Amino acid sequence: MIRSAFPIQNLQREVVGAIVSVVDVTYRVEYENQLKQLNQQLQNLAITDGLTGLHNHRAFQDYLEEQFQTAMHKKQPLSLILMDVDHFKQYNDTYGHQAGDEVLRRVAQILKQSVRDGDFVARYGGEEFAVVLPRTDAENAVQVAERLREAIASAEWTLRPITGSFGVASIRPDMETRREIIESADQALYEAKRGGRNRVVAWDYRMLLKAA
Ligand code: GH3
Ligand code: MG
Ligand code: MG
Repeated sequence: MIRSAFPIQNLQREVVGAIVSVVDVTYRVEYENQLKQLNQQLQNLAITDGLTGLHNHRAFQDYLEEQFQTAMHKKQPLSLILMDVDHFKQYNDTYGHQAGDEVLRRVAQILKQSVRDGDFVARYGGEEFAVVLPRTDAENAVQVAERLREAIASAEWTLRPITGSFGVASIRPDMETRREIIESADQALYEAKRGGRNRVVAWDYRMLLKAA
């Protein structure tokens, strides 16, 4: 309920009356609350991956940008793990897309369970996942990636074993944008694939020469 009152004054500025308005706003408040809730739901949908419930690619880019700026500014470490499911095309071809989707959901679950609360796990795209580790240096990030690799490889899979390859990169002072840390993690991931899959490779300077 909103009440407002306006005094009516005569020429001598004496109050001789008042206009009082009373408006019942119960419905309006309810409506506004519903609208707020809907907006919140829409915002969540826009940053969530529909299949796995993880953060989506867009949320990942936003978060990495934020963390990249903070890390550069505060001169703190920051690491990124990119993971790609091994031989996943073959899995889809053999067992069907639905079964493939199940694997992706399960991989997401395992990754989420194997990191600390608050660590950022996202579906990077297709069968690729990303973990952002603020204030974490390369050595520790490799340990985390190794734990994730092991968790996936040793999980019970109904149809056939599933493994993933992992690329790890950490922020370097010469980096200018977050894209460089993604590129580095991607190069390391490529080396993990080339090295035989189901393994963790950390970026190192020799990969600069290869990319050139
Ligand atoms: P590699 O070990 O080199 O990564 O081999 P791969 O077969 O995993 O790699 P490739 O990039 O050739 O295949 C990726 C496959 O992932 C192909 C695509 O159909 C499948 N995929 C991507 N997104 C989805 C999805 O949302 N659901 C399912 N079921 N499959 C997906
Ligand atoms: Mg891939
Ligand atoms: Mg793959």
